[in-house]
Amino acid sequence: MNQMPEFQFDNTYARLSDKLFSQQHPKPVSQPELIALNTTLAERLELDVDALRSPDGLSILAGNSLPDGSDPIATVYAGHQFGHWVPQLGDGRAILLGEVKDKDAKRFDIQLKGAGRTPYSRGGDGRAAVGPVVREYVVSEAMAALGVPTTRALAAVASGENVQRETALPGAILTRVAESHIRVGTFQFFAARRDYDTIKQLSDHVIDRHYPELHSASNPPLALLEAVLSKQATLISHWQAIGFIHGVMNTDNASVAGLTIDYGPCAFMDVYHPETVFSSIDHGSRYAYQNQPGIAQWNCANLAQCLLPLIDSDEEKSLSAAQAVIDSFPNVYSTAYATRFRKKLGLALPDEDDLQLISDFLQIMADSKVDFTNIFRALSHCSVEKNAAVDGNDDSFLKLFEQPQPISDWLERWRARHHKENSDVAERQLLMLQSNPAYIPRNHQIESVIASAMAKDYAPMHELLTVLDNPYTEQADLEKYSLPPKEDEIVQATFCGT
Ligand code: AMP
Ligand code: MG
Repeated sequence: MNQMPEFQFDNTYARLSDKLFSQQHPKPVSQPELIALNTTLAERLELDVDALRSPDGLSILAGNSLPDGSDPIATVYAGHQFGHWVPQLGDGRAILLGEVKDKDAKRFDIQLKGAGRTPYSRGGDGRAAVGPVVREYVVSEAMAALGVPTTRALAAVASGENVQRETALPGAILTRVAESHIRVGTFQFFAARRDYDTIKQLSDHVIDRHYPELHSASNPPLALLEAVLSKQATLISHWQAIGFIHGVMNTDNASVAGLTIDYGPCAFMDVYHPETVFSSIDHGSRYAYQNQPGIAQWNCANLAQCLLPLIDSDEEKSLSAAQAVIDSFPNVYSTAYATRFRKKLGLALPDEDDLQLISDFLQIMADSKVDFTNIFRALSHCSVEKNAAVDGNDDSFLKLFEQPQPISDWLERWRARHHKENSDVAERQLLMLQSNPAYIPRNHQIESVIASAMAKDYAPMHELLTVLDNPYTEQADLEKYSLPPKEDEIVQATFCGT
């Protein structure tokens, strides 16, 4: 029996100035087939899971029909891509169906990605291939389970049509859910046109939506800049703490809500090295792991530029106020970073030597070329109390390193630091087990589930999703998902796949 899914749409963005978007219907596809449906997220959004699975639901998720109350639009933005200014980008293949509220009255965009051409498609076909859709689905859901701010995936649907890339590839559509899709680049589009009325409308909207407490700030646009900077700093501290490399931190992929957005050639590091970069299009290593904080600051500086005339009519005053906010990034970031890594080391209280302790550990990891995720997880199983009963634990940890001495010396310092804190051993371990995942979406596993999905076998993707849904608990018989790639499984480069 067909049931029409009901969305309680309330489309605030579509009610703003029509300079911000173009109305655009999705283009139907020939033979939609469900790849995955996120039932937990659907329930949170108060959507009927059975209805979404029904032929009517599938039709909506494929872009073949529109749900009642939808006001489909493609939004416009601009951006710096790899540092180069592009005056017009926009949703070239994504169509925002509308906004719904979840159980807690929190607002979410429902967007179809890969749903056909829009006025912003430039040369593109408006479509997405199965590979990138599966990658975004798996990685964004893994990020959510890891506790990282991110867009979500509600569904993935195979289109039954091929898309032409270097070769013909099966096509797919992702239903993406986000607190909003507003980017630094959205502001840049209007700033470049000196359209400050629209910037004012946009910043009011962003404050309404993401930072309502700022309406009463003495200078709301300046407070907005500060808030976005803080969210971005927190976001990058999360990325660094789990070894996530976004790959395309262009200003059009920088969310003003501080979400991880636009999963293109992203990847998690296996072996730790600060210069790691995967993206095949990142020739200058601009978006390498260690550059991510600096790039986030640069992206915030671009947002500042857009807000200047709103901050103060006196240019000099405005510039110095905005500059002070941008200059605060290293401190704000460093505090967020230390907080996160302290938890990874099981430390509850701050100490001035912590950053040194962390960076020395990372240096030893880099020298020994060890797996970032597994080393932190293994450390979580080491005891802070060195005694005969647990020495065996140390041995298995030390064996993971090429040279035992540096790590053995470091362990002593880590223990001394714990003694200073005098924390409860069980609490300390719980903190570490909840901060150091056993499972991350490893690149070689993603490539493997993509290969199966391209052959229409979606079972491996579902199994991987189940493992990643519970990243902080070792799961029986699923040890293979915690293993780093074998030599011949190592993925050297990841592709945008657009
Ligand atoms: P991304 O690298 O996914 O962030 O995309 C950068 C820009 O290119 C955005 O404006 C996208 O909408 C656009 N784009 C990417 N792929 C396509 C495509 N296949 N068709 C049309 N536009 C695209
Ligand atoms: Mg993008």
